[in-house]
Amino acid sequence: MRGRLVCPFCGHGEEPTPQPEPCPSCGVPLRYELPPSKAGWRGRVGRGVWRYRAFLPAVEPVSLGEGGTPLIPSRWLGPELGVRLHFKWEGANPSGSFKDRGASVLVSVLAALGVRRVADDSSGNAGAALAAYAARAGLGATLFVPAHASGKKLAQIRAYGAQLVSVPGPRPQATAAAKRACREDPELAYASHNESPYFETGLRTLAYELVEDLGGEPPDHVLVPLGGGGLYLGLVQGFRELMGLGFLPLLPRVHAVQAEACAPIARAWQRGLELPEPVRPERTIAEGVCIPLPPRGRELLAGLRETGGVALAVPEEEIEAAWRELPTREGVYIEPTSAVAVAGLKRLSAMGVINPGERVVVVLTGTGLKHPLSDV
Ligand SMILES: [Zn+2]
Repeated sequence: MRGRLVCPFCGHGEEPTPQPEPCPSCGVPLRYELPPSKAGWRGRVGRGVWRYRAFLPAVEPVSLGEGGTPLIPSRWLGPELGVRLHFKWEGANPSGSFKDRGASVLVSVLAALGVRRVADDSSGNAGAALAAYAARAGLGATLFVPAHASGKKLAQIRAYGAQLVSVPGPRPQATAAAKRACREDPELAYASHNESPYFETGLRTLAYELVEDLGGEPPDHVLVPLGGGGLYLGLVQGFRELMGLGFLPLLPRVHAVQAEACAPIARAWQRGLELPEPVRPERTIAEGVCIPLPPRGRELLAGLRETGGVALAVPEEEIEAAWRELPTREGVYIEPTSAVAVAGLKRLSAMGVINPGERVVVVLTGTGLKHPLSDV
């Protein structure tokens, strides 16, 4: 397989393996790097994630038609704030979230490297995406989930034929159990949506699509909800690659929005830290962004500095208000986690970080069908 795994901080490099360890010096997850070429960009063909095949690992795609999602002009919020706003509608992906982009590339790589069984810790969209692509590739999948997890996402994971292992205790216990199981069983690969370089590689396609969809006039600002941060890092790396090739004049400001109930990156950013400190999470309806200590925290804070992005935290009442408004006023039925970014846009607009006339994209990460309004 072409490409290398590289530490984003010290440059340590390795050949691609199914389960790469973090950098031996820095302790951070490695990044997949392939020297992108202008010819590769010009040779893109088809639609969706694998349209950008020249920027992805050279493997046989395991695909369900992920990516190529709608970019929807805002009818209400954009005019109200005076900004040129588009929503990137990631709920239109095959399993209902942006995680399909990462899962497609990750499962394709693991299958090509001979892996037959995969594991991850997720009771949410990432678990559903991994289970879907594992099923598609004929791989076994085991998802370690907190014992308190419930609802439609678990039913979806089960429907794809994945095995669910219930882990007592708080969320980090499920991560520890998944890692332990993979250490004890060499046939079981840890296919982590938070740590695998291949997963993040698939998420870069979102940046490529935005640049294409906006006809070479890139957004001034992009807002994403932030939990583990893969989406954030994928977007920044994708923009970085296109800028390096001369297809993008400068990096958009990529802003990270967290729920106040669990906001380690926003707190670290406000204090000017280079590393986040763990927080004790409180309850939030935006369960997809509740990660008390993101494994790529150092890289996230560096990405914020590099793009001029702001990390901010929004309170529950603003998340819930945005969640209710989007379907009513824009016709888009989002999950509560997506509403975090919408609430963040209102705040950044009020703060004068985002100004009238600017081009803004808010990534709506997943469908509301798995988390209906009636459930709250
Ligand atoms: Zn390093």
